Amino acid sequence: RLALDVFGFIVFAILMAGVVLNTVFLVREIRRNERQDSFLNSVTHELKTPIASIRLYLETLERRPLDEAQRQRFYTIMRADTDRLLATVESVLKAGTLGNRQRSSHTRVELYPLVAECVQVVLRRHRLPAEAILLDEVPGGVKLYVLGNPEDLRTAVLNLLDNAVKYSPEGIHVRCHLAIEQYTSAVLSISDTGLGIEPGELKRVFKRFYRASSNDQVQIKGTGLGLFLVYTIAKQHGGSVRAVSDGKGKGTTMFLSLPLDNQR
Ligand code: ADP
Repeated sequence: RLALDVFGFIVFAILMAGVVLNTVFLVREIRRNERQDSFLNSVTHELKTPIASIRLYLETLERRPLDEAQRQRFYTIMRADTDRLLATVESVLKAGTLGNRQRSSHTRVELYPLVAECVQVVLRRHRLPAEAILLDEVPGGVKLYVLGNPEDLRTAVLNLLDNAVKYSPEGIHVRCHLAIEQYTSAVLSISDTGLGIEPGELKRVFKRFYRASSNDQVQIKGTGLGLFLVYTIAKQHGGSVRAVSDGKGKGTTMFLSLPLDNQR
């Protein structure tokens, strides 16, 4: 009788464990589907909005007689829209192909000029004055070299800068700093004074398709791919990336750390 009871209990426990596990998998699957749905909606929006804008400006250029200053303004807007379109297409394509990269495509890259170039691209993309993003000189005037794929490193830095600007709706004060850490790593820090990230989300923001849940962040459009790309690129270069923030409204600092290749 006791043996039967024990046997019955074990069967019951196994069944219950099965039910619980199934529920967990189901919830995970639903969450993943939700994230993919919202990713598709975001990508569609990120593609349609600049195309609609470019079309509108082109039609206006065709139909209305405009003076030179107005025409130049329209060209600047259309160029910024085209850049935004390209950035979205590139990040979607990159997210699919990054895993296939060969290390043989790595060359010796000096970080300061690469970061300076990215700063210029982002200033132009968001039509910002030069003082919105400041890049400090490297302490001691040292040249910092890393071994890597310049195109991928540019993608990583561009995504970090883009986010620093995007998530600062109340005014853009971004500061970039390059330094050596523990003699072996080059660290790029990018600090903003924007919306900040909740402590519980500091790690999750690097997951594919993940977008922070707070209301003011949801208003700002994106695909949830940018930081996933940064994380993957950092890892492929033997480095890492982490986010530091004192929470909502307190700004964010992103640290991208890469192995130095200075001794030659
Ligand atoms: P996207 O910006 O396209 O949503 P990302 O992968 O670049 O995707 O970023 C994921 C999430 O991390 C963003 O949705 C945003 O909520 C948060 N985030 C990233 N960078 C910052 C930042 N500098 N300040 C505040 N939040 C940020």
